[in-house]
Amino acid sequence: MKTFGGFRSGNEFFYGELRGDKVHRLSQPYWIALEPTGETLPLANLQIDVPVAPSKLIAVGLNYAEHIAEMKRTEIGAPLIWFKAPSSLLAHTGVIEIAFPDHKTDFETELAVVIGSPAKNVSADDALNRIFGYTIALDITDRDLQKQEKQFGRCKSFDTYTPVGPFVHAGADVRDVPIKLWQNRELRQRARTNQMIHSISQIIAFVSQSLTLLPGDVILTGTPAGVGPIRAGDELEAKIGDWPPLRNTVANAQ
Ligand code: MG
Repeated sequence: MKTFGGFRSGNEFFYGELRGDKVHRLSQPYWIALEPTGETLPLANLQIDVPVAPSKLIAVGLNYAEHIAEMKRTEIGAPLIWFKAPSSLLAHTGVIEIAFPDHKTDFETELAVVIGSPAKNVSADDALNRIFGYTIALDITDRDLQKQEKQFGRCKSFDTYTPVGPFVHAGADVRDVPIKLWQNRELRQRARTNQMIHSISQIIAFVSQSLTLLPGDVILTGTPAGVGPIRAGDELEAKIGDWPPLRNTVANAQ
């Protein structure tokens, strides 16, 4: 398994491969080419930034049976997809800023897929070959707006509503790994990725029907049960498998 990320040193942003406690700087985004510059920096001296820069940030809904039950919805027989604004991405340790503090705004913990090679009309059998790697994401959702509006684009796209990271893991086996979220150190979500209704292969095949997935694109694969509201002052920690956890805090937008 290889680990990649986006890093910041002062005002300078770059992508790199993390090996142990050292970051090997790359000359291009890792999903474009793996070209080391030869420069190596200690992770401890760097700020961890957003590890992806997708042309499309796609989310899947209603992909775990117990979450469908808690939302009082019914399965629709195919992946339900929508688009989140890439500008909603937030780095590890970043602050989720609640746009409307008087609305119910929920966390949703999700396994995210990063595409590695173009995919259009791919079969489920071929889909896994188009993946670069995987990461942890939160699909923060304004439930009041989600109920009021037919489209999910706005209620899930406010700035900071898609925390992601801290890293992207290539070559990981995510077929049956634990996915968990703690809110203020209390375990709120606990499931396994093998409980997904539509597999990652099926999701990629479905999404790629005439819609070209490009290297670097990101797909959130749906939340398990246990979603709940966030409030200013909260500390969230999301974990998948044995990867380093994604940690974020919450404040009200100013
Ligand atoms: Mg979601």
